[in-house]
Amino acid sequence: MGATDRTLGIVREMAAAMEENRQYLTKLDSEIGDGDHGNNMRRGFAAALERLEGEEPGSPSDVLKAVSMALIGKVGGAAGPLYGTAFLRASTALSGEEVSPQDAAGALEAALGGIKQRGKAEVGDKTMVDALAPAVEAAKEAAGSQDATVAAVFRAAAEAAEEGAESTVPLTARKGRASYLGARAEGHRDPGATSTRLLLDAAARSLEGGG
Ligand code: ADP
Ligand code: MG
Repeated sequence: MGATDRTLGIVREMAAAMEENRQYLTKLDSEIGDGDHGNNMRRGFAAALERLEGEEPGSPSDVLKAVSMALIGKVGGAAGPLYGTAFLRASTALSGEEVSPQDAAGALEAALGGIKQRGKAEVGDKTMVDALAPAVEAAKEAAGSQDATVAAVFRAAAEAAEEGAESTVPLTARKGRASYLGARAEGHRDPGATSTRLLLDAAARSLEGGG
């Protein structure tokens, strides 16, 4: 299987994860937001799959670009444009038909750069950055190891993202809707950090399953 098909497999697994976790993400967003994150993510990834059905992407970069366009076009709210920018930056970071472990870590780093630039959030603001920033560090470290694989890069990223998402629980939010709640956001897990963790876990599982 080539890297383009592996990337398509990742997107399918991400879409399935957003479908399966729609209610969970909605519950988290009901606690500190407006309760639409589960639906936003499900709708966005369903649109991404639909878009990919109608195209014949020639490279991993093409696949990620189609996902980006679907997310930007179909998902309102904060998360749509932020994830859309993330996928667009990841798409731009990749070139050619192969993806090395270093390329994968570089694409994740580019995605983080896009989210930070667009949303102006830093680690500790109780957003998806709290999951993705440690994930990028872990991905870079995994990519630097002797026997690095792209699957191992995503597994390391997903594990760090889970810790990062958990770290948002005690925080007060400084960005997004939850920032209007002040101390009332404390004790709740950030929905966007949680979806980031779920997306990275889906990518890792897809690569581990199919090679
Ligand atoms: P909305 O808040 O518009 O309803 P969603 O519910 O889909 O959009 O997404 C909410 C998530 O978006 C939050 O949990 C948070 O992780 C993320 N988010 C919001 N604002 C920002 C920002 N400025 N930078 C990074 N992430 C953000
Ligand atoms: Mg919301």
